[in-house]
Amino acid sequence: MVYIMLGAPGAGKGTVGKQLANAINANYIASGDVFRNIVNEETELAKEIKECINSGKLVPDELAIKTFIDRILPKDLNTDLILDGYPRTEGQAKHLDSLLESKGVKVNWAINIDVPSELIIDRIVNRRICPNCNSIYNLKYGKRPKKEGICDNCGSNLIQRTDDNEKTIKDRLHTYEINTKPLINYYEKQSKLKNINADENTSIDELVKKAIQYTI
Ligand SMILES: [Zn+2]
Repeated sequence: MVYIMLGAPGAGKGTVGKQLANAINANYIASGDVFRNIVNEETELAKEIKECINSGKLVPDELAIKTFIDRILPKDLNTDLILDGYPRTEGQAKHLDSLLESKGVKVNWAINIDVPSELIIDRIVNRRICPNCNSIYNLKYGKRPKKEGICDNCGSNLIQRTDDNEKTIKDRLHTYEINTKPLINYYEKQSKLKNINADENTSIDELVKKAIQYTI
């Protein structure tokens, strides 16, 4: 069984994907982790991926396919898989399907965590982190610091990441939408798309519970 996690940056698909993997005893493979590991190698592939990551660009189809199809997936196809961040485009999805088909496996569901953009933006601009112990807080949602601007854990002054501003987030959401709309249509046409709608009152636990239902 192969499940694809879809969702905009900041929608929580990584957290949901990991917990779902634990719950159903599947392997969780995140493209971000895979790319970060490969970057440490002394290969031409590593060099190319490193350049993309450092410039903040999406890893192009050809490289993503080389990394996943040739190296990662074939080793793991005898277990249930949850893929996060791959495929990211329709081209990658088609390659994935042909690889799986040749191994007698298929994508069961693409699970799309659908969070309104305004909520994603509001959550991220209100995020504060501790530069000392990496604790994460939010001024409006979830865990707030007990004392304004101070880390509960170690007493350091909280900061806002430079990337956590409205313009950067809007740009990332826009890029996501352009690349992912065709991907969502691709799975929808095959009747493999499961949308899980979330609003500001939806907890991660509820999202995980809904996602588990699609794996039974
Ligand atoms: Zn701290």
